[in-house]
Amino acid sequence: MSTLLDDTTTATPKRDQPREGAFGNARALACRECAHEVELGPSYACPECFGPLEVAYDFPTVTREEIAAGPRNIWRYKALLPVPTDIEQSPNTEPGFTRLLEAKNLARELGLDKLWVKDDSTNPTNSFKDRVVACALSAARELDAKVFACPSTGNLANAVAAAGARAGIPTVVFIPSNLETPKKVNSAVFTEKLVAVDGNYDDVNKLASEIAGEEEGWAFVNVNVRPFYAEGSKTLGYEIAEQLGWRLPDQIVIPVASGSQLTKVDKAFQELITLGLVEDKPYKVFGAQAAGCSPVSVAYKSGTDAIRPVKPDTIAKSLAIGNPADGIYVLDICRRTGGAVEDITDDEVREAIVLLARTEGIFTETAGGTTVGVLKKLVESGQLDTSLETVVINTGHGLKTLDAVSDRVGPAATIAPTYDAFVASGVL
Ligand SMILES: *Cc1c(COP(=O)(O)O)cnc(C)c1O
Ligand SMILES: [Zn+2]
Repeated sequence: MSTLLDDTTTATPKRDQPREGAFGNARALACRECAHEVELGPSYACPECFGPLEVAYDFPTVTREEIAAGPRNIWRYKALLPVPTDIEQSPNTEPGFTRLLEAKNLARELGLDKLWVKDDSTNPTNSFKDRVVACALSAARELDAKVFACPSTGNLANAVAAAGARAGIPTVVFIPSNLETPKKVNSAVFTEKLVAVDGNYDDVNKLASEIAGEEEGWAFVNVNVRPFYAEGSKTLGYEIAEQLGWRLPDQIVIPVASGSQLTKVDKAFQELITLGLVEDKPYKVFGAQAAGCSPVSVAYKSGTDAIRPVKPDTIAKSLAIGNPADGIYVLDICRRTGGAVEDITDDEVREAIVLLARTEGIFTETAGGTTVGVLKKLVESGQLDTSLETVVINTGHGLKTLDAVSDRVGPAATIAPTYDAFVASGVL
């Protein structure tokens, strides 16, 4: 068995040690539960307590000016990521620095004083997953992986397949076979090795862990290099703060699948405070799920820490993880900051996709519909303070989930090409 895929997490000697500085200012992988540290490598579970490992750093002084002088993509924050200082030299997808748009029309519609949309649908493969995959690709390269792979709810497969193509590393991506056609094509166009599995995401994920344990030299972005992958989501938090003029928002609404993104946006805010890059102030974090896959929201509402896995049944397929790895940390963060976790029905998801499109000209996928719909519900139920500055994250593009709204919107009329026919149509 190769060291890359060794799912025991002991620091076995490697054939080739990663080069000096391969992971930038990262110091070790530290257990989230017991703080035990292991050396940087393809490990993801604590050898002492099986808790999740995450990247720990020795940060130097980092200034706003140094960051501002960097490229207009996530590598402007490379000092805060587990990547080498020469990261820009290696072909990658250069995601990030997406628009932060003030959403005045949507704010008025919902009764909010100040609202921003962080629009991650414009990343290279049209979802926020390009951020995490760019960091995973760097780790895979430094660890000399032969295959770049993932189990995916859709967007991750798109991002892995594209990044692997650009980097010249063979890819194998695994998806549930019932995925939307646009998401399948968006992967298959970049790789010959798209594998559709009869089962839900949790089945696909289990299969991936098994393959990771058997095959040599595979980097599964969200399995054995997950600690590196997950750090990519921090860049959403950094960008929001920088784009607000180095300030934290008062409230933020984030979709929850595995819970990794929400956890890392909070980590990013905490790091910015510690590094003195933003003023220390309270902020509230809210999590968004679809009712058909809402294990974290259900646990939040029942006041427990125990997350009961569910079988997903929702149109928000990119959020359809029934057994979320970071769910308990989402609960911690939302409770600690005074936020909440909420869920909405598939019909409310569809409605919210159209609402965002018609108020702000942004076409989001079902995950973004979930987030915007939850924002609306949080306002209506009084859980969100309408006088506070709020950010909502749009994590993906509506063209990937056209079917969700294709029978809600459409031609107002189909007419003959004559003025009379237009007048008769009643469109005006
Ligand atoms: C994967 C994904 C998420 C959530 O990701 P987690 O970090 O697993 O919670 C949100 N939105 C979209 C569009 C995604 O593809
Ligand atoms: Zn531990």
